Amino acid sequence: RLQALIGQHESVCPKPTATSTTPSSFTFEEIMDGSRHDQFEAFFQPKLELSTGRITGAEVLARWIHPNHGVIAPYAFIDQLEQSGKINDLTFIMLEKAAAACRQLLQRGQTLSLSVNISLTSLTDTTLASRITQVIRNAGIDPRHIILEVTENAAMTDVAHVLENLARLRMYGFGLSIDDYGTGYSSMQQITRIAFSELKIDKAFVKGFAENGPLRIIVQSSIDMAHKLRIKCVAEGVETEQDWDALKSMGCDVAQGYFIAKPMDLASLCDFCERKVAL
Ligand code: C2E
Ligand code: MG
Ligand code: MG
Ligand code: MG
Repeated sequence: RLQALIGQHESVCPKPTATSTTPSSFTFEEIMDGSRHDQFEAFFQPKLELSTGRITGAEVLARWIHPNHGVIAPYAFIDQLEQSGKINDLTFIMLEKAAAACRQLLQRGQTLSLSVNISLTSLTDTTLASRITQVIRNAGIDPRHIILEVTENAAMTDVAHVLENLARLRMYGFGLSIDDYGTGYSSMQQITRIAFSELKIDKAFVKGFAENGPLRIIVQSSIDMAHKLRIKCVAEGVETEQDWDALKSMGCDVAQGYFIAKPMDLASLCDFCERKVAL
């Protein structure tokens, strides 16, 4: 059952909410138990350059392959891990998987950058930057192949230490992306403090934006701002050809979303890279 699920593309996997028996969230103990049994997997969602349709990388998204409930999306376990101070366990699992995937892709002649999600509030321990770098280098990967997508889910407390970690990670060569730009605590202020390399417009602004005057203005302004800051602009949640075309004509650099592909396992990503013809 487990093997069968891992091998499947997400679009054919049952959504966790589709069955009445699947809980909408799990207890901390259940989650740690899943972690001890190596049930956390990395799925990958392609990121495509809009001007050429070429794949530039993929976002690494955590999935819990639950023995009874199938593939569980992150909303059912991320908050619990963050609140109990254990989110870095998941960060390191995903970094290891990203590094291994990166190496496998490089061996197949695919130079992709893989984006790992990291919550800003978990970057308070100042040894973290060197530990993250160690994991990537030990796997034989140069940090320039890894982008860290930073999300701010709660107000930052230990600002000085978080900024120190981010500055070091950037210095060691990692890409830094400001994720979910425009929502929550992910604010303008971050941009002035950290040398980000990428701005990722939240899907809340992207879905159906081509037909919506105010959303078009917000998206265009975000693209222009990123370019003036000399950083790449990525749009997430691109679900239609219309949105793809509009982003392309507006000069956005990279797109990610269901229009291109849903998150998939590593084998499917390898197939995707080889099959991919320009959009
Ligand atoms: P995110 O980093 O903003 O990731 C994008 C989310 O949008 C993913 O949800 C992805 O599956 C979904 N998505 C992609 N394209 C589309 C689209 O066209 N339409 C719609 N409606 N959704 C789309 P997912 O995988 O459920 O992840 C949710 C969030 O959980 C992520 O948002 C991220 O903040 C967090 N997350 C995932 N993996 C990790 C992880 O390893 N560590 C941490 N700290 N957070 C993670
Ligand atoms: Mg992300
Ligand atoms: Mg995002
Ligand atoms: Mg988001």
